[in-house]
Amino acid sequence: TPTILWLRRDLRLGDHPALRAACARGGPVIPVFILDDGVEALGAAPKWRLGLSLETLGKALARAGSRLVLRRGDAHEVLKSLVAKTGAGAVYWSRLYDPASIERDKAIKADLTATGVDARSFAGHLLFEPWTVETKTGGYYKVYTPMWNAVRGRDVATPEAAPKHIPVPENWPESEELSDWQMGAAMQRGAEVCLPHQQIGEVRAQARLADFVDDAIGGYSEARNLPGVEGTSGLSENLTLGEISPRQCWHAGQRARHEGAKGAETWLKELVWREFAYHLMYHTPHILTDNWRREWDSFAWNEDASHPHVVAWQQGRTGVPFVDAAMREMYVTGRMHNRARMIVASYLTKHLMTHWKIGQRWFEDCLTDWDPASNAMGWQWAAGSGPDAAPYFRVFNPETQLKKFDPDGVYSRRWIAEGQISPARTAISYFEAIPRRWRMTAEDTYPAPVVALDEGRKRALAAYQARGF
Ligand code: FAD
Repeated sequence: TPTILWLRRDLRLGDHPALRAACARGGPVIPVFILDDGVEALGAAPKWRLGLSLETLGKALARAGSRLVLRRGDAHEVLKSLVAKTGAGAVYWSRLYDPASIERDKAIKADLTATGVDARSFAGHLLFEPWTVETKTGGYYKVYTPMWNAVRGRDVATPEAAPKHIPVPENWPESEELSDWQMGAAMQRGAEVCLPHQQIGEVRAQARLADFVDDAIGGYSEARNLPGVEGTSGLSENLTLGEISPRQCWHAGQRARHEGAKGAETWLKELVWREFAYHLMYHTPHILTDNWRREWDSFAWNEDASHPHVVAWQQGRTGVPFVDAAMREMYVTGRMHNRARMIVASYLTKHLMTHWKIGQRWFEDCLTDWDPASNAMGWQWAAGSGPDAAPYFRVFNPETQLKKFDPDGVYSRRWIAEGQISPARTAISYFEAIPRRWRMTAEDTYPAPVVALDEGRKRALAAYQARGF
């Protein structure tokens, strides 16, 4: 009987345990992607980026003689009807770890199993399943470094090659057209401006990994802090959609480490930050929606997303060059350098005393590498409300940070056009991407700071003190 391979955030053919198992089962394999409410509700940029990934995967499957079947609707209902139509004896998928997916997948598994279908979930999105990493006293890690120490020496199975042959059914179930799904509909920022900044699909992701390990990993420890330099892998957009597996990254990093590449260990550590974020989301799902440390519940954040300061932050016109450069980088490319993410998040939650959820939501709308676990952890880290977070009294100074990490002004010039005689192409592209109603032009005078940095810092510290932190 056929196996339905239900694809979600595992949009690749290599190192794909669920796909391997489906092929090994013997019958035809029917790869399916379902546009359910969860996918519909994605932010503009991640949804658009997902559409591009599906298109690429569809082509890769076609090259392998197979297909990607697209269906819209409630996943449970769609799978049941596909099982009935195709006579499938098995439904396989790779696990997700957010609470909504867990609940849905459990119900589907129970229901299908009760009707005699072999419904099974596989690993693939993480290096270590969350229930396999425990502290000495039991329970999950709330602090990163001990978790790193616990997993750094673990064996991680060698990545599996893509199956040589994907068996196909005699009759394919009907598929919808990807173009009808309008995955880019909410992408107001010029999609054509954003497109050149994406590396879509498995082949590009593998090339990116190879380039990074060949060229950049040695200098990663230093270069990763410099937003003006391409010193990081850029793989987050591929990892979040599963266009590459974390095992493939881990093994490439380990090889580089054995060959003596200096930055390799630092990079492996970053992969474990991703694991840390996932483990936290699995064990404490409220990290997605509420202060992880509940004592922050009574803190008087600004919760008005239409506050002029918040709007200035979103539109990259706070008058603070590091912040504005970073917000514009994200709007154009769908990406933002990690140091810049820390700066803009600190600035929003501290200098502007605005709730991290507002920043989390804006990132969710703008990032093509949006990831539920890493985004939530990153925001709560910056705000001080999260596990292993930056101490609340640590308020990044975006001016000194810019001097330190962008000493020659490469990054700020790349993204800020105002006041420059011949602005960089990238800085101009921002004005091509933004909606007209923002009323910004490259010829404007660069704005004065909406909040003086020193004043903002003092105000935040006074508020923490008043709260008794
Ligand atoms: P590299 O430096 O090459 O690192 C390799 C991989 O390790 C990354 O691709 C990523 O998967 C993982 N990684 C690196 N740093 C982190 C980190 N701090 N936390 C978790 N995983 C990490 N990352 C996302 O993938 N999606 C998000 O939505 C996201 N939102 C963030 C929000 C805030 C406020 C902050 C501070 C960080 C956020 N990050 C997010 C983490 C980090 O900024 C990005 O993963 C990183 O910039 C991606 O660039 P890269 O692929 O070149 O990473």
